[in-house]
Amino acid sequence: MFEKIKEVIHSPSKALEFFLGKDVISQSVPFEELSDYEKWWKEEGEKISESVDRARTPWLKMYDETGKRVDEIQYPSEYWRMLYEGYKRGIIDRVFDKGSIKPFYLIEYIVTFFDAGLGCPYTVSLSTALSVFKYGSDDIRNEILPLMRRKDERVWQGATWMTEIKGGSDLGYSVETTAEEKDGVWILNGEKYFASNVGAEVAVVAARPKSAPQNVKGLALFLIKKYKKDGSLNYFVRRLKNKVGTRSVPTGEVEMKNSSAYLLGKREWGIYEILDVLNSSRLANIFGSVAVIQRAISLALKFASQRFAFGKNVIDHILARKQFEDKVNEFVKCFKMGYDCVSLYNEVFREVPPFSDKFNLFRLMSHIAKYCTAEMAIQTSKWAMEMFGGLGILEEFPVERLFRESIILSIWEGTPHRQMLDGLEVMVKKQSHKLLFDYIREKNKNNEFAVQKVSEIQKFTEDFLSKDENFQERNVETLFKKLSELWEI
Ligand SMILES: Cc1cc2nc3c(=O)[nH]c(=O)nc-3n(C[C@H](O)[C@H](O)[C@H](O)COP(=O)(O)OP(=O)(O)OC[C@H]3O[C@@H](n4cnc5c(N)ncnc54)[C@H](O)[C@@H]3O)c2cc1C
Repeated sequence: MFEKIKEVIHSPSKALEFFLGKDVISQSVPFEELSDYEKWWKEEGEKISESVDRARTPWLKMYDETGKRVDEIQYPSEYWRMLYEGYKRGIIDRVFDKGSIKPFYLIEYIVTFFDAGLGCPYTVSLSTALSVFKYGSDDIRNEILPLMRRKDERVWQGATWMTEIKGGSDLGYSVETTAEEKDGVWILNGEKYFASNVGAEVAVVAARPKSAPQNVKGLALFLIKKYKKDGSLNYFVRRLKNKVGTRSVPTGEVEMKNSSAYLLGKREWGIYEILDVLNSSRLANIFGSVAVIQRAISLALKFASQRFAFGKNVIDHILARKQFEDKVNEFVKCFKMGYDCVSLYNEVFREVPPFSDKFNLFRLMSHIAKYCTAEMAIQTSKWAMEMFGGLGILEEFPVERLFRESIILSIWEGTPHRQMLDGLEVMVKKQSHKLLFDYIREKNKNNEFAVQKVSEIQKFTEDFLSKDENFQERNVETLFKKLSELWEI
């Protein structure tokens, strides 16, 4: 496998072609357009991306010269060119044009290979557009979707703001933003502590309607626009965060002060809609992590192929070669896992609560995949730094940045604890593991060894789930590692 992957490791579009084939890709995005986008990155995008990272945090311009509050995010003009390039290539529009989410994840794979942080604005825009598409009234859908599907600088970007200062994992406890209906309009008051793609024209926000219970069932999902009808700001950016990585997306703190909002979907669906918003972004995290793994191996391979030590190039030493082979095997496993999630999500992404068994299967698979791929992206980029030796620590080589970019991957869209506990819940409550085993068995039905391995993992899982809750929670990581072996066969 190492020899085959070596041929495609430096090119994200070639890797996609290797795994999926040109014809399958072209059903979603013409393959030539993907390779053309990669060419753009190599010729222009990479330099812009590097300068954005080096420039560190963008600035927040809060007031204009007349004293009016404007809250504009100030990046160099090249940043906007880099950002709009993805919209121009239809990263959001194609999803609705084709009625398929696959174009998004294929284009995003190219983006993330070159700039993991820039994947975020597109991801949260997709999550917002899907929420509008699924849960918005006809009026909202007709107004907002065409703006979000624009393929030029006038595109409306989205954002997904749930987390508040008291925490992101337990939203039922931590969300203090209130929502109150007055004369048919919802009014939001509160603060969001981690607001990525801050400055977006429209955002989906978790808030608690007044008199709703102080738990997760009391939450509802709202849509807010950046500007009110009179042109004044509808939300305010208090400050931008200094971050070690992902500087290609501005993350800020947002204040809502009597902000007008639209309720999305049904009030009682709130938490299910909020978790649904996370599905598309969790998947972007998964597939983006695979691209980061590829990039890390690519950087390490280029370096080790010319670095000379003990009489030969580093790559030709037995131990180094073995490590490359292991990393490539992990990459292949993560790609298979990630693309299975993309395919399955494509079948269920239109669903609204109550969700089908297949939807719950997607949830389980994506919790396993998020847990594994994010960790592997971090480990592989750390290993790539080691491959560079001391040079890996220096800011002048790209591997240092890749590591900084990768460490967020296990936090965004839910920490590893959350992935494991949510995955456990869907197994216990919905029995989704049974469908998972059927799914993998069906894919490998002509492989006797694989079918036997699935049965072994199924037996392990059923024994595990027959134990008491305390045992399950303490040992769930062992179960997750075991389940991830389903993609090694
Ligand atoms: C750069 C950046 C951008 C972000 N952008 C956004 C955004 O746009 N929108 C948004 O909504 N959020 C955003 N976030 C927030 C992110 O989603 C949260 O950081 C994440 O969900 C974790 O929440 P927390 O940081 O509050 O940690 P906490 O929820 O406080 O958790 C702290 C630790 O406790 C662990 N823990 C919690 N519960 C359990 C349990 N039951 N068992 C075991 N361990 C547990 C967690 O796994 C974690 O390790 C962003 C974060 C960062 C860093």
